[in-house]
Amino acid sequence: MKSRVIILGPPGAGKGTCASRVSDIAGIPHISTGDLLREAVRERAPLGIRAKGHMDAGELVPDELVVGMLRERLARPDCQKGFILDGFPRTLAQAKALGGIAAVDLAINMVVPADIIVKRLSTRLVCSKCGAVYNTRTLPPKKAGICDKCGGKLYQREDDRPEAVRRRLEEYKKKTKPLIGYYREKRILVNIKTKSIGEPPEANVRRVLAAMGIKG
Ligand SMILES: [Zn+2]
Repeated sequence: MKSRVIILGPPGAGKGTCASRVSDIAGIPHISTGDLLREAVRERAPLGIRAKGHMDAGELVPDELVVGMLRERLARPDCQKGFILDGFPRTLAQAKALGGIAAVDLAINMVVPADIIVKRLSTRLVCSKCGAVYNTRTLPPKKAGICDKCGGKLYQREDDRPEAVRRRLEEYKKKTKPLIGYYREKRILVNIKTKSIGEPPEANVRRVLAAMGIKG
């Protein structure tokens, strides 16, 4: 079984949802670098304090800090059976850094046609108060425009408008091309294709489990 997994894919591909369901079924931790970073900042861990300094200055958090957090996380006992990593690596340099701290035996590349992503993100709404995410098509709030959890107003992020999404997808493609080539050369890359907008997330979950060698 291949259980040290990374999951790559453009914004709006559904990486987080897919990783979290695979994690439940396969019994391996879902590690999101976004969550790790927020947790380290909240707990005032040494690396978190340094990361916050960069974030407060409006800068990207340097790779070495993220890699440091990952090294600590991957050393915890629950990762002995494997892990599914979401949000990292995003560049070739990060992939090489990851290779220095952990063996990866499967790189899932979520391939989703641009039109599907544009459509999917165009119906996404975010709570202005607590950040909860909704989708008027697939995950509507109970009351239109209002957050179920906190009553905050929902809005569409600038980033989720069609022109912005197309721009983000172009950037993503450029940045990740070498990364995808890197894992293809290592012969651990598996493309998982979303075929239609109506496809339930379970379809991709099954494809990932099959690539891991687990019967879904
Ligand atoms: Zn809310």
